[in-house]
Amino acid sequence: MPLAQAYAAQSATSPLSPFTVERREPGPHDVLIDIHYCGVCHSDVHQSRAEWGPLGGAVFPMVPGHEITGLVERVGEKVSRFKRGDRVGVGSFVDSCRQCAPCLQGEEQYCDRGMVVTGITPTYGGYSTHITVDENYVLRIPDALPLERAAPLMCAGIAAYSPLRHYGVKPGNTLAVVGLGGLGHMVVKFASAMGVEVTVLSNSPAKRDHAHTLGARHFALTSEADTFQKLAGRFDFVFDTVTAPHDHNLYLHLLKLDGTLVLLGAPTPSTPLMAFPLIMRRRKIGGSLDGGIRETQEMLDFCASQGVMADTELIPIQKINEAFERLLKGDVYYRFVADLRALREV
Ligand code: NAP
Ligand code: ZN
Ligand code: ZN
Repeated sequence: MPLAQAYAAQSATSPLSPFTVERREPGPHDVLIDIHYCGVCHSDVHQSRAEWGPLGGAVFPMVPGHEITGLVERVGEKVSRFKRGDRVGVGSFVDSCRQCAPCLQGEEQYCDRGMVVTGITPTYGGYSTHITVDENYVLRIPDALPLERAAPLMCAGIAAYSPLRHYGVKPGNTLAVVGLGGLGHMVVKFASAMGVEVTVLSNSPAKRDHAHTLGARHFALTSEADTFQKLAGRFDFVFDTVTAPHDHNLYLHLLKLDGTLVLLGAPTPSTPLMAFPLIMRRRKIGGSLDGGIRETQEMLDFCASQGVMADTELIPIQKINEAFERLLKGDVYYRFVADLRALREV
């Protein structure tokens, strides 16, 4: 059994600490990956602190991490798509039933029997030096994308890209992004690359200049009382990426006739939804979760062709607890990426 060095949470209240994981020996269709980098998604904080309750399925010890990039170390005898040394990625799931309607449509993240989530026991996630994954759930990272800056694309990237496609966001549409974090900054990058007029709605005055550099046309502070009056009825879409409970009704008022609020952030508990802001302007509300394997590969190829990558701050995995604390304060521009090679060299 290949042994991996990892960082795990032993309980919902304990910090992450060193842990050893036994990975499965690659079966005929498996790929053993030498993990170089893993992005630090806010979902890792939610999951390792059991903030999602029974929905989150938290089991301990837990090795979080689902924004994985690295190199193929070994392949099973029937693997046809990958060979040793290939640049690869793994996102938020490592398997699914492969038989239900969503799986057959390439929307494995919505598998009727439940996708096998990366980082929820027994899968153990990317805060580790190695992982064994079926080749059908492994992505190819194009040469134009550095592995470090591609890691966050495996969740934040696809979670931003998929709803832009699914909800039919078009050039010339107006779109507001609420919360400029890991996910939010990828929405800004993709939407502006697609010719969409993007406004960032943020709590953080310091992010104003960054928002423009990332491609946003406008910036407004949600902490300023008149923001919601000034921007009422302005947007075709509002993409909400906020991690903490907040009033979604406020954002419905910012939509035009037939506008859509897309919920991406996953705070609990949620606030009640009012019927009137929806009824009066035929507005819609929806959600979206990551993307399927086929669409994730399409997104990676789009990133390579357009030069879209995450803005990252590299940390050794040994600093993961500090990174969680800084993430909770919004003190990252815009994604921590843990260096797993630092763990192997110890
Ligand atoms: P993040 O990097 O921490 O960014 C979240 C942003 O939300 C912060 O930068 C901040 O933006 C804003 N925010 C934080 N606390 C807030 C508060 N108390 N009130 C108002 N705004 C606040 O997190 P992330 O990794 O982007 O993840 C965002 C959320 O999306 C998480 O809940 C995560 O679990 C979820 N998620 C969903 C998917 C999906 O497929 N749907 C995929 C990945 C993650 P400002 O400083 O600009 O205000
Ligand atoms: Zn994630
Ligand atoms: Zn399925």
